[in-house]
Formats: sequence, C-alpha cells, structure tokens
Amino acid sequence: MSKKPSTEELLASISGLKNQVNILKSELKKRSEVSEPEQEKFYKAFHSNPALMAISTFYDTKYIDVNDAFLKKSGYTREEIIGHTSTELQLYVDIIQSDKFFRKLQKINKVHDFEVTIKTKTGENRTGLFSAEPIMLQGEPCLLTIINDITELKQNKEKLQQVEQRFREFAELLPGMICEADMNGNLSFANNDALENFQYSQKDLKKGVNFDQLLIPRDARRTRVNLMRRIKGNKLSASEVTAIRKDGTTFPAMAYIQPFFKKGKPVGFRGIMMDITSRKKIEEEILREKAFLEQLIESAPEAIIQCDIKGVLEIINAEFTQLFGYSRKEALGRNIDELVSSEDQRKEAVGITKEVSGGKKVAIETIRQHKNGTPVYVSILSTPIIVNNKQVGLYAIYRDITERKRAESIRQMIHNISNTVITGKTMEELFHIIQEEVSTVLDTTNFFIALYDKKTGSLTLPFFKDEKDGFQTFPAGKTITAYVIKKRKPVLLRTKDIEELEKAGEIELVGTSSKVWLGAPLRAENEIIGVVSLQSYDNEDAFDENDLELLEFISNQAGLSIDRKRAEQNLIIAKQKAEEAARVKQQFLSTMSHEIRTPMNAVLGMTHLLIQSDPRSDQMEYLNALKFSGENLLVLINDILDFSKIESGIVFFEQADFNIKEIINGIKQSFLFRTEEKGITFDTNVDPELPDSIVGDPVRLNQVLTNLIGNAVKFTEKGSITVDLNLKQETTENVEIEFSVTDTGIGIPKDKLANIFESFKQAGTDITRKYGGTGLGLAITKKLIELQNSEIFVESRVGKGSKFYFSLNFPKSKIKSEHKPVETEESYKQLEGSNILVAEDNEINFIIAKKLLEKWGAKVDHAKNGKAAIDMISKKNYDMVLMDLHMPELNGYEASKIIRTSENVKNKNIPIIALTASVMPDIQQKIERVGITDYILKPINPKELYQKVLRKIKGL
Ligand code: ADP
Repeated sequence: MSKKPSTEELLASISGLKNQVNILKSELKKRSEVSEPEQEKFYKAFHSNPALMAISTFYDTKYIDVNDAFLKKSGYTREEIIGHTSTELQLYVDIIQSDKFFRKLQKINKVHDFEVTIKTKTGENRTGLFSAEPIMLQGEPCLLTIINDITELKQNKEKLQQVEQRFREFAELLPGMICEADMNGNLSFANNDALENFQYSQKDLKKGVNFDQLLIPRDARRTRVNLMRRIKGNKLSASEVTAIRKDGTTFPAMAYIQPFFKKGKPVGFRGIMMDITSRKKIEEEILREKAFLEQLIESAPEAIIQCDIKGVLEIINAEFTQLFGYSRKEALGRNIDELVSSEDQRKEAVGITKEVSGGKKVAIETIRQHKNGTPVYVSILSTPIIVNNKQVGLYAIYRDITERKRAESIRQMIHNISNTVITGKTMEELFHIIQEEVSTVLDTTNFFIALYDKKTGSLTLPFFKDEKDGFQTFPAGKTITAYVIKKRKPVLLRTKDIEELEKAGEIELVGTSSKVWLGAPLRAENEIIGVVSLQSYDNEDAFDENDLELLEFISNQAGLSIDRKRAEQNLIIAKQKAEEAARVKQQFLSTMSHEIRTPMNAVLGMTHLLIQSDPRSDQMEYLNALKFSGENLLVLINDILDFSKIESGIVFFEQADFNIKEIINGIKQSFLFRTEEKGITFDTNVDPELPDSIVGDPVRLNQVLTNLIGNAVKFTEKGSITVDLNLKQETTENVEIEFSVTDTGIGIPKDKLANIFESFKQAGTDITRKYGGTGLGLAITKKLIELQNSEIFVESRVGKGSKFYFSLNFPKSKIKSEHKPVETEESYKQLEGSNILVAEDNEINFIIAKKLLEKWGAKVDHAKNGKAAIDMISKKNYDMVLMDLHMPELNGYEASKIIRTSENVKNKNIPIIALTASVMPDIQQKIERVGITDYILKPINPKELYQKVLRKIKGL
C-alpha cells in the first residue's frame, strides 16, 4: 500500500525541485545549441526504439510525446496519454516508488535502471527498468523517460529460479551427499547432507571449496580420470573412495560422478556420494567371519571341502592335501569325484554328489584314491549348503579310517587264518590262505613262506610268489632266510643293509637282490620252523618298521596255525591208523571166528550124531559134557564177534514181521531144561493186549532177552525167574513194549551197578571163578538196546535179586500172523521123499547135513564144488540145493549165478539155501544179488535147518 506524502514533505520537495530546475535551466542552456539535423536524428531514434519512451514536461510531468513501443505496451492511445501525467493515468503501480525516482531525478539529474511495475490500460502489470534524464526540447526543459520492458525476462528468471529451487529441494530429499562443481572442481552446490558430512558450512562453500578437497589424493585423481571417461561417453559407474572431512578424518564412500554439458561442452559435474561405513563394517565382519571359518576349516584335523552344486571344488583344507596329495592349485576348480576316486569308485562317488545335491545328507564308509594311486579308506560325511532356501553347493568331511580299516583287516585276517585250521583245510591250502589274507593288508607281490628242516639244514618253500626268482628246496646256507632263523627275530633290510651284511660275511646272496627285504621267523612251540618273507625289487619304501611288526604278528599267528594244523594232521594220521587197526582187528576176528566156527560145526555136529546113535550111558555123559563145552565155546565166539561188530558200528537191524509171543515161548522152551535142573521156577507173563505180529529184528530181540535170562539163571540158586512183557503205549501205527527180567538171585552191589554194562566188567573178581562168563553179555545187550534208540535199567539188592528192564518201539505188522503149532523134533517128518543136493567141499560138514536131512526123510546127493552142482542139477530133478559159499573151482556165488540164468525153468527157480560161516554184515546183500533164496549160518542149528528147508520146499 502506498502511503500519501505529508504536506511538509511535499513543500520540501517542491522547494527542492525549484532549486533543481534552476540548476537544470543553466545546464540546459549550455546544451541548447543543438542543431536541427541532430534533433531529426533523435526523433527518429525515439520512435523506432523498442523500449517504452516518453517525453514529458519537466515540472508538471505531463506527457508531450510517447513512442510507438510505449503505446503498444501500455495499451493507451496517444490522445489518452498526451497532456496527462503518469499519476493521472495510474501508470506506475507503486506511486511512492515512482515519486522516489522523480525526487532522485531532481537531485542527481539522472536515474538509471530502477525496476518499476506499470499497469497497462487493460490492468495487466508489466515490469520494466526505468531510466530518466532531463533534455532540452525547443528550448524547453523536458524529461525523457525510458522503460525497458523486462517482463518476459523476469518471468524466465523466476521460472529458472523455481527449477533451481526444486533441484535443491530434491537434492536435500535424496539420501546421498550431492554436489555440483565446475570443470575445475570448484563446488557450486552441496546439499545439507554433503555439508554436514564433510563438516563445511554454506559460508565455506561460498568462499570456495574444491571437489579435490573432499577425497584423498589418490581417489581424487581416480575420480578425475573416471570423469574424463564419462565425458567420452562411458557409462555411469560407481567407485569406492575414501572421503576426507574438513577436520581431516576420513570415511569410505561410494561415488557416482556425472558430467553436465552446456551447448555440447562439458562445463561441470555433479556427484552423489554415499557413506558406506556401516556397509564396510558388515563387509569387514563378513570377511572376518569368512577368514575365521577358513582358518577353522584349514586347521581342522579332517579333510574338508566345499564344492559348488556340481561338485567343483571351491575350498579345500590342508588336511585334504595331506590325505589325497593334491595341492590347492591342483585341486581347486576340479571336480571332486574325478579327483579322488578311481574308475571303479567313480559311479559311487558321483551318486553321492547327486544325492547331496538333491538335498540329502550322506554318511558312508568307502574307499577313495590318493594322487599316487593308493587306496584311502575314508568315512565321508557330506551335507548340502543351502542359502535362502536354495541349494548352492555342498560340504564334505573326509575322515581317514585307513588305520582303523587296517586294524579291522588285520583282525579279520587273523581270524581267517585261525579259521582255516578249524575248517580242516590242508597245509597247502593253509599257506595259500595265509598269503591271500596277508595280501589284504600288505603288498604280497613277492611273498614266500619257507619251512626249515633242522636235520638237513634245508629250506622248502611250500608257498612262493615272486616276480623274479623261483625256488623249491635249497640249502639254508647263508641266505637271508637263514640269517632270520639264526637271529630268531624279525628283520627289515634295505639294499645298503644287505650289502653290509654281505661284506661282513653274514649272508651270501642267492637270486635277485631286493630293494627292501622283510622277514619274520615262523615259530611253533618255541622252535623256529621257518620264515615268512615279503620283498620289493623296486621300491625301498614299500615296507617299513610297522609292516615288520605286522609281519611278525602274522607269522606268529601263522606259526600257531601251522602248529595246530600239524598236530591235527598227526591226529588224522593217528585216527586213520587206529581205524585201520580196528579194521584189521575186525577182519581178524571175523576170519578167526569163521575159522573156529567151521571145525566147531564138525565137533558139535558129530556130538549130535553120536548122541543120537544110542551111546552107552557113560559115553552119553562124556558126550553131554562135550556138547555143553562146545556150545559154550560157540556162545563165546558169537559174543566176541558181536561185540567187535558193534564196536565198529556195523550192526544192522532187520525189519521183519514176527510174532512176539512165539519168540517168548521159544526162549522159555530153551531155558526150561536148565531152570528145572536148578530147581527154580521160570514164568513168562505176556500182556494179552499185545498185538500178535510186529515189525522188527527178532534175532536181536532174542539175543537181548537170552542174555538177560541167561544171567538171571546163572546167578539164581533158588526162587524164580520172571519175564514180563507189558504194553506201555499204543498208537494205530506203533506199540511200545516194556520188557523186564526179574530174578531172586545173588543181586549186585550198589557200587558195581554202573560198571556191569561196561565191556569185560563183572560185579566181583570171584564171579568168573564161580560163574564163568566174560563180562561182554551186558555190554552187548546195552549197545543193542541203545542202537534201537532206547535204554536199559537195572534195580538190584544183594541177596534179594535183580530186575533188568527196557522198552522198545515196534511198528505194528500189516500181515496177520497165523499160529503154527510148536514143532517138536519128533514131528520133523515133512521132508519125506524130497530130493536135496548138498554142495559142500568139506566132507565132515556134508556128513552132518546129510545125517540130519536123511533123518527127516529127505534123499541127499553130494556135489564137491559149484561146477559139479550145476552139472548134477541139469541131470536130476532136485527140490532144493544147500550151497556152501566157499568151494574150490566154482564157489557158491558163481554157481548160484549160473543156475539162475539156466534155460530150464525148474532149475532156474530152484530154492538155494547158502551155508556159510561168514558173519560179515554184507552177506545178505551179496546172496540177494546172485539170487540165493536164503542162508543158514554154520555151525548148523538142526531146528533152523529143518524149518528153512521145509518152508522153501513147501513154497511157504
Ligand atoms: P558175564 O555174565 O559174562 O560175566 P555180563 O556182562 O553178562 O557178563 O555180566 C556182567 C556182570 O554183571 C556179571 O559178571 C555179574 O557180576 C553181574 N550180573 C549180571 N546179571 C546179573 C544178575 N541177574 N544177578 C546178579 N549179577 C548179575
């Protein structure tokens, strides 16, 4: 708002003006002599001037003339202006200001470029630079005012200022330190952030700060170089710099520098810098952590690696180099699976990497390969590296377990070597296995086991494996092997040692000399029996002291094994010898019994015949004694034979259908005479529930019962003997029968009860003298029962009597047995009219058979050998042949074989009963093979002969 001037003020200014006018008048007079053409020129210039120009009267400032620009810019017509003052027109917006100009004008005669605002006729404000000066026109003082319109110029300037302001505001808003400099580096602008950080004030900036002051010299230089590159068109790039504060302290920063151009020319540059102290700190921390981790990995006692997802090595530690032999340079960048696995192991290794790359953790014990090709036992633990849920690689830890594996292998090896002894391999196999097992722990390319014969002083090599030499047996002499035997301790020799020993005369070399020779004595029972040796012809370091220790250990084991093996082999030989001796004994007994039986047959047979030939009573007495002794002798022979058969395990049990009651009756019959003689009773109680027919060996059962009953009769003087048969158990298929033999005899003392079943043992020393016997009966009985899977028991009291009992299992017979009347000798008449051929080379035996058969009504012919028998059969019709098996010319087997192939049907099927003294177990098979119908053991039991002959003739 313009303030109205006071009256005093106005009066003062008027008096002042009057003074001025006076001064001007005199001044103007001096300039009044202006020529016409000059005035002309002035007007021309006045009107064509683009500035707003006006001429007004000096004192009352009424417009006399204005130029075209004035009219155009103010919007007034000439008529509206001329004769009026600017105040009347309200041309100046700020009247006080315009008055001030006029007053100044009057004082100093001239004003120049004052900024004024004029209002146009349409009310629009325009800005101009006002200048005025008095001029003389036609002798009158006038005022020339000139206004240069700067409205557009000002508007532009304002716009520019606004842009700059916005730029500054932006610059303040941005998080970085922003500054601008000219090409010399003088800063023209720096935002608050920059000033604050660098510790400069606006004042400092105005005074002048150079960009170079903000960086350490090296970075300042670098930045300039960068700037030049940018000017040449390179892309904006950040560079890390060290910035300096006003106080000289520094901080790390990231700088982005960009030049700016005016009319294509670079005129300066702008830069943004970011304080990266905290980032640097984090980076440093990460670096420190990384270094710590690397240090940790590096110093770890296990081999540790880091790979990318494909297994390419990124980090390895010192232990890895130690374990596999690859330096960092050799390993980094290589694929782990190709680096440390042999071709055989590759598949497994790649598989593991794949599995771990798939996110799994893998732990495995396996083998890898050292750079030098040797296998390395390792346990591997491999885990994936996951960053932000993404798998980026894998870690693996390799633990060297070679030592453990070696220890395990050694344990296994020793176990295997010891085992060989137990599994019954031969010595040769044992040596082979020793070598095989040693090769699992040591290199056995050149390996031998030498056995030392003390007597001959020679060495034999039961096992020898060598690249160069070959030996079999050689004198120990002064070989290194002999040296080991002499020293009695393990020896490790390298070329140098061998040479020295040779020079000293300790050894004389045989064969190729080796780079390293290892030998340990083989000890068996404290004696050195040989040497185990390993050698290498090309590598002095192939073996060391540890290997020597191991070899000693192995050789001790091997020594023990060899020792045991030898003992075992001796045992085998002893066993073979014992078996051979038993076989010879068996053979001897068999032959002897055969040899004794044959004459016994004659003795007993003849006795039988004599008894039947009605002798005198005194002769009868001798004959009975003869018969008794003969039969006793036969029992003895049978016992011995039986026992030896049982001992050598060649007892066979027949599986025949038989009637148990008949057997018991038969036994009773055979003992009746003796019990009646002794005046004791003999009872048999057979359980009526027992089946008639069962399956088993009647002969053996008979033998067992006869033995027990025989003893009972023998040791009982008064009272009774009872045989009981009870049904213990019955199923549809089987019966279990309990047999017991009870007597009221002398009994057996308690302390002897356990002994009586042993062979050749009796209850007292006087027994033999008093009762006779060999002490074999019960031993045989026990064995026979045991062989049928049962047991015999005894209960006894001295002076009261004894009870022997046992149970046996029998399958029930499928055949219904028919009762046959017990035949007495008087009823042996059914052979009447039959023709029987007896083939027998022994004259006496023939006579016995002949007498018996003829007594039963048969007609008998004699053939002296097999050939004669065949002959006679073809000429005459016989009902049966009794065939001795041992005959000259053609024996019984051969003759029977020929008869069975005869074309004559009757002859071909004729019953043949063999007569034999042999009790060899295979007799049954042998006779069956040649088609012999049955056999009778010599000496001939008349009853057995009758029954067998009758049965065959009648075709039963
Ligand atoms: P042997 O009767 O030939 O001497 P054994 O083996 O049959 O041989 O018997 C062994 C011993 O057992 C006999 O010598 C005898 O002392 C005793 N003994 C066996 N049976 C009886 C029994 N029924 N009564 C008393 N003692 C017996």
